[in-house]
Amino acid sequence: MLRKGLGDTLRVSLTGDPVEEVKSAKLILKAMHLREGGPEIISCPTCGRTRIDLDTLSRQVEKALEDCPLNIKVAVMGCVVNGPGEAREADIGVAGGDGEGLIFKKGEILRKVPENEILSALMNEIASMGG
Ligand code: SF4
Repeated sequence: MLRKGLGDTLRVSLTGDPVEEVKSAKLILKAMHLREGGPEIISCPTCGRTRIDLDTLSRQVEKALEDCPLNIKVAVMGCVVNGPGEAREADIGVAGGDGEGLIFKKGEILRKVPENEILSALMNEIASMGG
């Protein structure tokens, strides 16, 4: 209905912190291209190949990008084997490995970093993109 212009309000109800409701609503509007500006963060659904605490890393990335004005797609992927390829449409992303991670752009691997430097390496790369 929103996409057809039949409304201008979106209410999301979640169990837990109401702040998450606002964040979810923003993400839905952004995914529908009804709200522009700021990064879109995507993460893989995880599977048996997952080699990293993806939930924690995704939350850290989301928090670190709260004030980023760039209209970019940022991928947070669970494994180095398939992550970069599965997220090739992302402008920038990270993929978790065993004690390390890959930073990639549009599916192309830029470099490997130690696990504890994944977040800072991603943020540095985004900063170099103007964020
Ligand atoms: S990126 Fe890796 S961990 Fe994530 S769903 Fe794909 S194969 Fe599984």
